[in-house]
Amino acid sequence: MFKKILIANRGEIALRVQRACRELGVKAVMVYSEADRDAKYVKLAEEAVCIGPAPSPLSYLNMPAIISAAEVTDAEAIHPGYGFLSENAGFAERVEKSGFQFIGPTPESIRIMGDKVSAKQAMIKAGVPCVPGSDGELPDDPVQVRRIARTIGYPVIIKAAGGGGGRGMRVVHTEAALVNAVQMTRAEAGAAFGNPAVYMEKFLQNPRHIEIQVLADKHRNAVFLGERDCSMQRRHQKIIEEGPAPGIPRKLIDRIGERCVAACKKIGYRGAGTFEFLYENGEFYFIEMNTRVQVEHPVTEMITGVDIVKTQIMVAAGEKLPFTQRDVQIRGHAIECRINAEDPYKFVPSPGRITLWHAPGGPGVRVDSHVYHNYFVPPNYDSMIGKIIVHGDTREQALARMRTALLETVVEGINTNIPLHRELMVDAKFMAGGTNIHYLEDWLAHHKR
Ligand code: ADP
Repeated sequence: MFKKILIANRGEIALRVQRACRELGVKAVMVYSEADRDAKYVKLAEEAVCIGPAPSPLSYLNMPAIISAAEVTDAEAIHPGYGFLSENAGFAERVEKSGFQFIGPTPESIRIMGDKVSAKQAMIKAGVPCVPGSDGELPDDPVQVRRIARTIGYPVIIKAAGGGGGRGMRVVHTEAALVNAVQMTRAEAGAAFGNPAVYMEKFLQNPRHIEIQVLADKHRNAVFLGERDCSMQRRHQKIIEEGPAPGIPRKLIDRIGERCVAACKKIGYRGAGTFEFLYENGEFYFIEMNTRVQVEHPVTEMITGVDIVKTQIMVAAGEKLPFTQRDVQIRGHAIECRINAEDPYKFVPSPGRITLWHAPGGPGVRVDSHVYHNYFVPPNYDSMIGKIIVHGDTREQALARMRTALLETVVEGINTNIPLHRELMVDAKFMAGGTNIHYLEDWLAHHKR
């Protein structure tokens, strides 16, 4: 096992990894920007290094600063968390070239999966079902583009090969709008992701977002840890996640999970990863793979008892997975609500000082958050300030526990989306389970205030 690792991230995930390190008896070096000087995990750290000013290009995306922080503190490995440099193959490469272990897959795996076109091609080869679509990147020729769309059938969705975070996507309903939509998505993708390549998929009308969590070691062992349903989204961004997915037969999950495990072995995947699927009419369609730990990983930790972050560190150190597929048992039901510093209905970010913070507690309640009383939420980063995760024997019990937890939570000084979560937890359709990816947007449109 490593003696010391550096955590190249901020916020709740920095704290989450720091906690895993403490449990493992591994020293954790925290890095922080000038805006995060007062973060709880920095104050609690054995060692912390300031890596630059508030803007992330100068700090959390600043590769030389992060690598020299690892050098001066004698860290052996770097955990990238999620977001920032976590899916940057060039960073993983530089980390390894500088003599550190990157806690994640190989740079090659990140590169293949980071480009959604090559990811889909790899999945087709590995026998994982994909959304019907263009055979790779779209050509420039409008005649050919129209022909491809006609073969797939409208509506179609144009997606950036290098896209992420729900950006770089455009739905097209008619041939008249097609060529213009492709050009606009290309231009946006070039500006936002530095890669203008786009591809086309059938736009599924009523799918659910179902994802499979995997863990793999360096000895070709891989397991899947069940699924999460992340269909409650706004602008393609998840806000509520749960597991298991209501109403999907275990047999179907096991079948797709086994395909994911086979794909991991085929591509030599290592570490934690997530295969994301759209699920419609009993069929799974791969959309992308995330080659890192995800925001919603606690849902899986609650229903399997597996500590994903600890295992991630152990396998990066070369250890074998400490369990096999047969040992993985799904128990009860877990739900996660992402708590964002924003207006609950207009979604305008709401940074600033938290004048009162009271976190919920009680049986089956877990709070992953770096904030505290009098904490200042900096305006420079993502608006998520924490996550409330609950576990119950049944989905009904988990829902009841989430309602209680949300009732107990008090945040003053800034706006949060807690009022929205409170409403959704008593919404009849959500309570029935199995809502699709459009449900929340439709709900918001009908609940204008
Ligand atoms: P990102 O990397 O930006 O998260 P994804 O490819 O994972 O992009 O897609 C994000 C979300 O966009 C999905 O969860 C789904 O809601 C929607 N989406 C993506 N592809 C399709 C599709 N072919 N049909 C319908 N919705 C889609």
